[in-house]
Amino acid sequence: MVSIRLILEMKGGEAMAFKSIDQLDITGKRVFLRVDFNVPIDKSGKITDDTRIRAVLPTLNYALSKNARIILASHLGRPKGKPEPEFSLAPVARKLGELLKKQVSLAPDCIGPEVEKMVAAMKPGDVLLLENLRFHKEEEKNEAGFAQGLAKLADVYVNDAFAVSHRAHASVEGVTQFFKDKAAGFLMRDELHYLGKVMEEPARPLVAVIGGAKVSGKLEVLQNLAPRVDKLIIGGGMAFTFLKSLGMNVGKSLVEQDLVKTAREILEAADKKGVKVYLPLDCVVADKMDPSAQTKVVPIEKIPADWMGLDIGPETLNRFGEALKDAKTILWNGPMGVFEMEPFSKGTMGMVRQIVNSGAMSIVGGGDTDTAVHKSGLAEKISYISTAGGAFLELLEGKKLPGVEALKT
Ligand code: AMP
Repeated sequence: MVSIRLILEMKGGEAMAFKSIDQLDITGKRVFLRVDFNVPIDKSGKITDDTRIRAVLPTLNYALSKNARIILASHLGRPKGKPEPEFSLAPVARKLGELLKKQVSLAPDCIGPEVEKMVAAMKPGDVLLLENLRFHKEEEKNEAGFAQGLAKLADVYVNDAFAVSHRAHASVEGVTQFFKDKAAGFLMRDELHYLGKVMEEPARPLVAVIGGAKVSGKLEVLQNLAPRVDKLIIGGGMAFTFLKSLGMNVGKSLVEQDLVKTAREILEAADKKGVKVYLPLDCVVADKMDPSAQTKVVPIEKIPADWMGLDIGPETLNRFGEALKDAKTILWNGPMGVFEMEPFSKGTMGMVRQIVNSGAMSIVGGGDTDTAVHKSGLAEKISYISTAGGAFLELLEGKKLPGVEALKT
């Protein structure tokens, strides 16, 4: 896996599989910087969460300190391969200008003569944001001519969009073949550092906490992780498929019938490897999935036939907390319950507290988990929150990421 090489290299300073931006000579150069500015924007054009923009500021400020000419490229939303004004990056250019306290120009497109003219007029320290890459269908098709059109704009290539590095798109993968000098930005470097460490040389005991709605969404993660960890904690909706595989009646709780056998196999494989698996002992059940539902806490073997489990119960929370106490590394993906609704949020919020209190290195990733941690108010106490959803999961699945592979020299 790439991650182990990177992590070893970063520790030992040995020959690198690929570089990070501070190992490239970018002084005064035109830097093509692939970022993930795919931020939520409301109808009035206001960015409702600028986390992804802020996440790239260390790389941007570094490049500015080197007087680079920065050409930023990103996608936004899902335009259908042609310009659609609602997916323009204009609000992002404004926001970035505010954050950097300097002018950020927006190009009318991401390739073509007009953009090339704008780039040619750039001075050292100028920042130009290209218009949405996905206004061209060639971006997602990884079309070579399009990639070359992008590459033409710059001298060096930097990728700081780890969140899209699992996609072989032109700006992530194809474009790199046209650059001799390429590197990871600081965000990408940090993501790979933390995730690489967990996957390849974690401080043990390593505990994985996996939750969320379904087993199916995380099957490969479970299969890849279960034999590597010391303890596996399973919560959320997916726990009911595992409980069912042990012969429990789980009422109307979420069960993926076709995966009951697989769930059992995962438990058996973990057991063979000496991995301790923790499943819920009790849960909060409700008569419907609604904030106004009737609820009660019941032991797992006493879920009423007409009710559904929507959160872990207090005894489970305690038990999971015990399991976390001696952890040195905790990897968490997926909430313990339907945390979006107050009556079913205590398990997830409690887990955030327990993870923080354990003092272990904690790595959290995946869209919903990230949201839950921020909701808890304890986000700053987590060692690392990954900004990448799909890429984070693919790395946990043990897959190679095209955008990471493409940075290798
Ligand atoms: P995922 O994207 O797979 O991590 O799933 C996250 C979603 O799982 C959240 O929106 C939760 O509301 C949902 N979830 C967690 N626990 C349960 C549960 N017991 N039953 C149904 N949905 C759940």
